Amino acid sequence: MSARQTKQREVILQLLRATNIHPSADEIYQQVRGKILNISKGTVYRNLKVLQGMGLVSGLDFEGISVRRFDANQDIHYHFKCEICGRVFDINIPALIEEKLAQHIVLNTGHKVLHHHFEFHGICYACKESTVIQVDETSQNMR
Ligand code: ZN
Ligand code: MN
Repeated sequence: MSARQTKQREVILQLLRATNIHPSADEIYQQVRGKILNISKGTVYRNLKVLQGMGLVSGLDFEGISVRRFDANQDIHYHFKCEICGRVFDINIPALIEEKLAQHIVLNTGHKVLHHHFEFHGICYACKESTVIQVDETSQNMR
């Protein structure tokens, strides 16, 4: 691996470690191209794959969205995706619940659980606020 490749990978990883907005590959590319001249979209995608393979970055595939998001936060945490603005928020709650569920499956079925997928969907606090305002305006117009 060349010094240039190492540098590219490092820049992408640092960028992801500095954010909590779970950007898509395209969003990462838009930021990286400001730091590394002539970097291609393909290079960014390839590096993201490698970083995932190294266990340094996770790819988040949310139900109902085609674009994969990326996260360098490797602490156990959950995600909440807003159905209105599309933002993905970190949810820090203990992993006890899902461990219990997995244990329950093992004990009651004899299956071996390898992984699971647990995600929250809804309307974020900010969108909830603006939705309330819109509803209020509509009801005023109707009066
Ligand atoms: Zn939202
Ligand atoms: Mn996260």
